[in-house]
Amino acid sequence: MSTGPTPPTSPAKCSACDRPMNTPLVCDGCHRLYPADGLNHFELFGLAPTFDLDVALLRQRYLHVSRGTHPDHQASGDPQTALHLSAQINEAFRVLNDPQLRADYLLELSGGPSAAADKAVPPEVLSATLRLREEIADAKAAGDAAALERCRAEVEHRAAQALEQAAVDARRLPGTAADRARLRATLNALKYYQRLRAEF
Ligand SMILES: [Zn+2]
Repeated sequence: MSTGPTPPTSPAKCSACDRPMNTPLVCDGCHRLYPADGLNHFELFGLAPTFDLDVALLRQRYLHVSRGTHPDHQASGDPQTALHLSAQINEAFRVLNDPQLRADYLLELSGGPSAAADKAVPPEVLSATLRLREEIADAKAAGDAAALERCRAEVEHRAAQALEQAAVDARRLPGTAADRARLRATLNALKYYQRLRAEF
């Protein structure tokens, strides 16, 4: 994002052992856990809120924090906190590791409409979805494997294009209200394509 909230920083040092903190949740030195309430998915891993995040670094931080919250690796602290943290970081990793979910999450952070609040899709996507649904049903009824494969290829092509567009728009966040509405529509279209995938 070009503007927006300042990237969060971890506490500079662990208050228990004075060691510098790489992520806000777990101390590398004494494994002390810090509460994660109020932190967004990026902040949990000490990452800036951007679409083009360093996926290798995300994975590294995720594994690091996962180890830290594992009961076997905890020097102290209560198991409930560790369990709660563990669920939080698993969900955060699931979202950030997936480009589509990451774009959706960034849209939410930028104050854009949620999928529940704005169900709009480009009109062309609606008509194409209806047509494809019919073509898939016909191909299945006729046992036409080649036709089914053509449908599958079209769905994949459309999904790939939509994801590319979503990436372009997600990089421009927060943008204008119109920009955010367009990204919402693209992400909604991706959900249509996902449902079509389930038909094969
Ligand atoms: Zn420490």
